[in-house]
Amino acid sequence: MRAPTDLDTRLKLLIALAADDHDGRAERRPPRLRHIGEGGALQPFNFREVRLGTSNAYTSLLRVLMTNACSFNCHYCPMRRDREMPRTLLKPGELVRVFLAAHRRGWCQGLFITTGIPGRPAHVMDDLIQVLELLRFKHGFRGYVHVKAVPGAERAQLEQLTQLASRVSLNLETPCGQTLAQIAPEKNLFIVGATPDSDRAILGRVSELYGRRGIHHTHFSAFRPIRDTPLEAVPETPVARERRLYQADYLLRRYGFAPDEVVFDDRGNLPLGLDPKVAWALTHPERFPVEVRTASRQELLRVPGIGPGTARRIVTERPATVPRDLRDLRRLGVVTTRAAGFLTIGGRRFADVRWAEQMKFWGPDEDVGRYHAVYEVSPGTFR
Ligand code: SF4
Repeated sequence: MRAPTDLDTRLKLLIALAADDHDGRAERRPPRLRHIGEGGALQPFNFREVRLGTSNAYTSLLRVLMTNACSFNCHYCPMRRDREMPRTLLKPGELVRVFLAAHRRGWCQGLFITTGIPGRPAHVMDDLIQVLELLRFKHGFRGYVHVKAVPGAERAQLEQLTQLASRVSLNLETPCGQTLAQIAPEKNLFIVGATPDSDRAILGRVSELYGRRGIHHTHFSAFRPIRDTPLEAVPETPVARERRLYQADYLLRRYGFAPDEVVFDDRGNLPLGLDPKVAWALTHPERFPVEVRTASRQELLRVPGIGPGTARRIVTERPATVPRDLRDLRRLGVVTTRAAGFLTIGGRRFADVRWAEQMKFWGPDEDVGRYHAVYEVSPGTFR
């Protein structure tokens, strides 16, 4: 298949590969581009709003692949070596020119670069570093740049990239080397659902990496079968599983849960029908109800429907304004539809938690006769 040569066509191809990579958040585009989506999946522009750290500030990023060529043959990936498709690349100078043009027009504030790995990973890393050096030193761009480092990068290159980029991330395909060999035989180290790895194994690996301060936070991508790949016939993973993993990860990072407190079903997976915090609460009836007027911040944090900010607010405000009913709790930020059954206010209960009834969601998922969707684009490339 002949590779396209003109910049416009190459750009369309490389940016379009991220077009279907949605993370569930509504996209906001500059007003001039509001009809761009009507061009179909191969639209040339791909912008995404992302949150900066833990703040509420958002920035819009131009998301682009530096190249869709790759020497690896990962079984789940649309860019795998053995797949027939047009391959192309942007040179570092071209990528910088395209981004700065979009930035000048006000279409985006930052850049997200990811790439295939044609040839030696060290060469690809050199190109990524060159993009950053051009942006930072030649053009004085000080804004947000997120780069996906490639496996096989040299340590010095990773250090250099980390100094130049605002954020550096790395894809981990599976939690263990044995299952990785099934889907990416040439790699030596999360695509959720592409292998039989359980949520327990995935979260175990994540906690280990947090413990070693190896990562700041994790993104999960539910597996999607890609057309014309060896895993095309494997059923896609329900997006709910990805969501449950994010929720459990949040419990570990923000709610002070220990890894062995997360509740799994008998297959080692998070129950799809229950939020992980509710699952924990249902298995610990001895810890409930929690009395809002006297509970500590940590005790409140264990209640479904109460987050870290709300728990802090309750403890800070209750000496001056004693909460009397669910309306007072809602004003403080409590999601009372979820929390009511786990709380008392001045000894008064508000709802009954039907423990046994909720447990029935823990049965095996019904997937008989499920439609088998096949996709052109994998998820998570640009997260
Ligand atoms: S997952 Fe990465 S390394 Fe593997 S084939 Fe795709 S682009 Fe190449």
